[in-house]
Amino acid sequence: MTALGNHLEIYKLLPKTNCRECGQASCLAFAVAVMQGQMSLGDCPYVPDAQKAEVRRSGSRGTDPTEDIQGTLRVLQDEARRGDLAESARRLGLTMRQGRLIIPCLGKEFSLGTDGLISSCHVNSWVSLPILSYVLRGAGLEPRGQWVPLRDLPGGADWGRFFSHRCEAPLKKVIDHYTALFELIVEVFDGRTAPEQFDSDIAVVIHPLPKVPILLCYWKPEDGMDSSLNMFFDATAEDNLGIESIYTLGVGLVTMFEKIARTHGR
Ligand code: SF4
Repeated sequence: MTALGNHLEIYKLLPKTNCRECGQASCLAFAVAVMQGQMSLGDCPYVPDAQKAEVRRSGSRGTDPTEDIQGTLRVLQDEARRGDLAESARRLGLTMRQGRLIIPCLGKEFSLGTDGLISSCHVNSWVSLPILSYVLRGAGLEPRGQWVPLRDLPGGADWGRFFSHRCEAPLKKVIDHYTALFELIVEVFDGRTAPEQFDSDIAVVIHPLPKVPILLCYWKPEDGMDSSLNMFFDATAEDNLGIESIYTLGVGLVTMFEKIARTHGR
């Protein structure tokens, strides 16, 4: 078991019934409280003793969320190495080339084979993890063209606040200082502008995964009102990528855009 370095790792140990017996509104809120040191894993009566003991042995909470992402990534990579890539190709409507599964991502090409995930561009682990999750577990449903905020996805209610804090707020900050990032996203990441979306001033659709489009909407500051930014997902998103991976993907994209803005937006 990896050290518990972020609330996602803690959340994975919980039964996710949101029964509230621990006094928190949901299992996710409990996981955050544990991460912040306000509660301990033992405050949930449904975590098996053996698991609590193992967490104690592993040193309990770590400090680097990236370590946990790396741990999960290794597990998924192992699973992908042993998996049936041709079956994934059929399920997801992807192609195989010389024994490798080809996965288009933000206008770039990834390929997955027995030696792992390869791409010509550098991508952080927060993005690699959802790509593998998509390949292994995605249903391959065609997007319906119905945009919804993350909190309105079937499993999104618990995640909305965290997503807003960890993804939408930092991305808004980036765009406030570097609005041209949208143009770069269109040019470099094969995004397309999507006018007339929710009365936004700028709207761009990106495809971080073939059947998981994301709509980025930005409203400029106006009449003393602050700017705002929202990310929308197709109503099918959770069938194609589990809610945890959608969250992780959001973090990965924002991390990548922040880095690009630091490099180009000076
Ligand atoms: S007691 Fe456990 S299962 Fe119930 S809400 Fe709290 S963390 Fe979730």
